[in-house]
Amino acid sequence: MKYRNYPMVSRVVFGRGSFDQLDEILAAKRKGRNAPFIFYVDEVFKGNHWLTSRITLSYKDKILYIPTKEEPKTSQIDKYVEDIILEFSELPSGIIGIGGGIVMDIAKAVSLMLTNKGESKDYQGWDLIKYPAVYHVGIPTISGTGAEVSRTTILTGPERKLGINSDYTPFDQVILDPELTKDVPKNQWFYTGMDCFVHCVESLTGTYLNAFSQSYGEKAFQLCKEVFLGNDLSKEESQDKLMMASWHGGMSIAYSQVGVAHALSYGLSYLLGVKHGIGNCIVFNHLEDYYPEGVALFKEMKQEHQIQLPQGICQDLSDEQFNIMIDVALSLDPLWENAIGKNWKTIITRSKLLDLYKKM
Ligand code: NAD
Ligand code: ZN
Repeated sequence: MKYRNYPMVSRVVFGRGSFDQLDEILAAKRKGRNAPFIFYVDEVFKGNHWLTSRITLSYKDKILYIPTKEEPKTSQIDKYVEDIILEFSELPSGIIGIGGGIVMDIAKAVSLMLTNKGESKDYQGWDLIKYPAVYHVGIPTISGTGAEVSRTTILTGPERKLGINSDYTPFDQVILDPELTKDVPKNQWFYTGMDCFVHCVESLTGTYLNAFSQSYGEKAFQLCKEVFLGNDLSKEESQDKLMMASWHGGMSIAYSQVGVAHALSYGLSYLLGVKHGIGNCIVFNHLEDYYPEGVALFKEMKQEHQIQLPQGICQDLSDEQFNIMIDVALSLDPLWENAIGKNWKTIITRSKLLDLYKKM
């Protein structure tokens, strides 16, 4: 096939307070008393009546609170799937993820692995999933990753950190309620928001760019500038706009790719467990040779919001450890090809990556 035929999220609600409609939306999808809805909810909402009182449990429905100190692992997904299979006699009516990129990715991955046999590590890659997932719903409570629109769920497996990219991965339903983001701590708001900004820069400057990606990328880029550099937005406007920036940023990379920042940040994450948002910030801060304008804007945003990034996180690493990170980064061919071009292997050397990692 010359041009990829991409699936999209089939239904989306947008609006402040739209989370109130969750029950009604799900009711239409219930398959019976023995087919529960399983809600994965970020642990940060445990005991938060404002949010949890709007999730009504019927029959065998269940809420699981998910710790988000670490990014999802394939073994964790396999465990959640096994728990569901052992506990219930029928497949769930639906899997609902309420949280940031971590929880949304968990919901996507569990819904896929309930209908596809074996271990999730064997599906990391492109188009390895054979059967449609269980109905799955994504409800972001922090904005930036674009996980709510993407056709991937990013997992760390025994060998690599890589997404399960498939036509069955995107959510069947997304609820975009910007009010859910009201209590995100400031640093985290910046880190996850910058994930979106970096997606835009990597997409817009990439060699894969086409008018489809550009149209979404430019919109997201403009919204990020309004949110992070403008000073005339109300809190509500800022939340609304960042949620839409995340959506557009995610759409922009659907038909292109990310680039240098993500490649290096995957290395940090794999070896040191550095989380995606902050990892991208740590890396992007040193990428002026690759993205001069984007990095200059990033530094302005960082200054404006008085964000201090951790420094020296690689200072005590051994040669062997640097090599592991470099291997992970260099294994991501499509990212480099997008960033640099087909001849990237003649331009990107191990010593260039080593120099960059040593600065971080
Ligand atoms: P996250 O899910 O780790 O959440 C960050 C922190 O914010 C957590 O501590 C969480 O408890 C807290 N939080 C979330 N909502 C909150 C709220 N409303 N109030 C208070 N605290 C809140 O962070 P993230 O940056 O959204 O996601 C990162 C993950 O997303 C990584 O695992 C990354 O691999 C993945 N990712 C996936 C895609 C994709 O397309 N599937 C794209 C980019 C990133
Ligand atoms: Zn990202």
